[in-house]
Amino acid sequence: MRVGVNMEFKFSEFIDLPKFKALIKNFYDLTGIICLIEHNEKIINLFPKYNNELIRFRFDDYDKYIIKQIKNKKKYGIAKSKSGLMYIGLPIYVEKESFITIFTSAIFYKEPDSDFLNSLKSSNFIKDIPVYSNEKITEIIKIMCNTSSLIENMISNHIKDINSNLKLIENFNKLTDDYNNVKKIAYYDELTNLPNRNYLKHEMERQINLNPEKTFILFYVEMNDFKNVNDIYGYEYGDKLLTKIGNEVKKLYYENGIVARVGGKEFLVFKTKDDSKSLNEEAEILLDNLNGIWYLNGNEVPISVNIGISVYPDDGTDILDIYRNSDIALNKSKCGERNSYKVFKKSMYDDILKKSQLEKEIRKALKNEEFVLYYQPQMDIQLHRIVSFEALIRWNSPKLGWVMPGEFISLAEETSLIVPIGEWVFREACEQSIKWKNEGYDYDFISINVSTVQLRKNNFIDMVKSIFKETGADPKLIEIEITESVVMESLEKNLKIIDELKKMGIRVALDDFGSGYSSLNYLKSIPINTIKIDKTFIDGICKNSYENIITEQIIDLAHKMKLDVIAEGVEIEEQFRSLKIKNCNKIQGYYFGKPMTAKDAGIVLKNEENIL
Ligand code: C2E
Ligand code: CA
Ligand code: CA
Repeated sequence: MRVGVNMEFKFSEFIDLPKFKALIKNFYDLTGIICLIEHNEKIINLFPKYNNELIRFRFDDYDKYIIKQIKNKKKYGIAKSKSGLMYIGLPIYVEKESFITIFTSAIFYKEPDSDFLNSLKSSNFIKDIPVYSNEKITEIIKIMCNTSSLIENMISNHIKDINSNLKLIENFNKLTDDYNNVKKIAYYDELTNLPNRNYLKHEMERQINLNPEKTFILFYVEMNDFKNVNDIYGYEYGDKLLTKIGNEVKKLYYENGIVARVGGKEFLVFKTKDDSKSLNEEAEILLDNLNGIWYLNGNEVPISVNIGISVYPDDGTDILDIYRNSDIALNKSKCGERNSYKVFKKSMYDDILKKSQLEKEIRKALKNEEFVLYYQPQMDIQLHRIVSFEALIRWNSPKLGWVMPGEFISLAEETSLIVPIGEWVFREACEQSIKWKNEGYDYDFISINVSTVQLRKNNFIDMVKSIFKETGADPKLIEIEITESVVMESLEKNLKIIDELKKMGIRVALDDFGSGYSSLNYLKSIPINTIKIDKTFIDGICKNSYENIITEQIIDLAHKMKLDVIAEGVEIEEQFRSLKIKNCNKIQGYYFGKPMTAKDAGIVLKNEENIL
């Protein structure tokens, strides 16, 4: 039986809810930790407007582990993950039975490792998970224990109105003292002594309440590549430089702003808007003061930053909204140039919302098997016959209808969902390759697109091997397409992967050739089988154009290097003829065949066999 199940009380009948909420809000304001209540097996969040993203980082297994500790009569339970996350659970007893359990949202008990952060890259709000040292965590647990005894008293005395009981008021005040103690450690950044996020939130609230008619700006500053500073000069030096930068910025806003440090290399500046300056001018001032060479201990260190900006009241009247929106703008700025800033726009938020909904749908799609592979024929020009296929993914979503890869692959890459999707594609194409062979169809191979995110995973080759083992497919019937720019991205590592694939007997094609680096120079060092000339070249091939000449040269060069050449996106007969004259080996495109279901591709193969 789970703790608390047999207690049929209604939560609100035994607890003065407003007081209880005040305690929890106070605790959140101080610590950035949301307390969730487990009562009768239900998890209740008394402040749904607080960062729901934080609550997403809850995992059932941790709760179960915590409850196990509580059942073993521990005063509280703690669950830690290797990645640095930690959760605390604390029971509140009534007549020796656990009545409710208070669970905290996630806390980092150490700086999270970069792999973990990368896997959560899609989440904008991961930064909101507070990082606490052991010392602070002990303090926090103490506060929680005191809070729980107070609540136990409230309940066991069956007192609804806390004000009517002097003893309890005394306790409540004592608790507030405790909070004040924590304030010292909870409000300031240990390294720079600047205020931290919690303090800033309070200050923002206070200043806005004092002058609600004023315009305020929040700058969210992130330094780029600060890791390099630590790597080159050591952490101690990095810490000193951060302190120096923090203090210089503080001086800059001495009169009309507050500067906080909110993460390893992130600062927030909150200030009243200067009437004589535009928002852009204000941003430029901050940018100019941060960017450039910083001098410390005789070293010259180049620093560049990105800044996200949001404005009260234009971008929200709630501080949490202003705060979140500056973070959204920062992320947008990071997608662009270094040394730049972005001012928040509502469309940025809408995009994120749309993306997060799409992400949810993609996750469901994987589970519910909504993906389908289509196959586009590739024709051998000389034989005038279909000899191979490219597998192209389609998504048949019950909610969104048919979704093309252009609409979801990049998001799947951002969220790493492309890894399980890519694995599904690989398995599906391998299984199809066997089916067609078993049906006696003659074809050379099925070509599979592989994303850069898949290649970056260390276990890509293992995944490929295990699928061949599992399905019994013949590696000779599979070609892998890697985009030219992706190969160049980390040439050395990818060369090793290509080598491994080749050793297994898999063919490798360089996709979208010409769209990126057009690195003819590198061609000789990459052991590929095929070059796929990008559609943009084929589009211009019929005119007496640059594209026409280049295509001819690529084909000649490739042939000298004993590589096959396939032209992509061939739509009209003239393009086909022109490619035939140029001795291109294969074509793929609407002219000859659109991507089709496996069943239709099978029929095409069957008809081809009839021709033979
Ligand atoms: P891609 O690898 O360059 O694939 C060729 C794209 O061109 C396909 O679009 C195909 O339908 C389209 N196409 C083929 N012939 C013609 C033509 O004559 N005219 C025009 N206008 N288009 C033509 P699709 O299927 O929408 O896929 C788009 C991209 O999505 C692919 O570009 C590929 O980068 C990615 N993708 C598709 N399937 C997968 C997959 O299974 N895994 C991964 N990682 N990426 C995939
Ligand atoms: Ca492709
Ligand atoms: Ca392509």
